[in-house]
Amino acid sequence: MALMDIVHYGDPILRKKCRVVKDFKGLNKLINDMFDTMYEENGIGLAANQVGVDLNLFIIDISDIEGEGESIHIFINGQIIDSSGESWFEEGCLSIPDVRLDVKRPEKIIFKYQDIDGKIHTNEIEGLLSRAIQHEVDHLNGVFIIDRVSKTSKFSIDKELKSIKKESLDKAKQRKAFVL
Ligand SMILES: [Zn+2]
Repeated sequence: MALMDIVHYGDPILRKKCRVVKDFKGLNKLINDMFDTMYEENGIGLAANQVGVDLNLFIIDISDIEGEGESIHIFINGQIIDSSGESWFEEGCLSIPDVRLDVKRPEKIIFKYQDIDGKIHTNEIEGLLSRAIQHEVDHLNGVFIIDRVSKTSKFSIDKELKSIKKESLDKAKQRKAFVL
């Protein structure tokens, strides 16, 4: 088991569009470590750039949520190709600790992705899985939940955001200090 550091809001890697995965070999270790990290942090979804890796992949496990049954997923190079309906749901984010926001998103999506073997799938997905996928796809495109709420909602957590950002930038600076 290997835990990775979760990257927080303010770190530039969370604002860039992640690289397409072309080489599917050698992803196993990264994905296993991401699962370990996500479980340790009590998250239900985790995108690669949230652990500092610039690749278009994310994982989800919503098995513990009531009524979902076993629901563990690895999605690579995912794209939402269509969406419909709308729903509100209170979301948290491992990269913005202790913040919860009501976010409006489409209810149903048509999602195209590749699995760990590179095989392409296209599925219609709704409910919590659809919600979680949309949150993670946003991450891989450099988008946060704070970009999906009103200015007033964002302003209500302004203090928290500023402090997370400062800490995050300090950490990023420290990381650079070790590059020789
Ligand atoms: Zn998140």
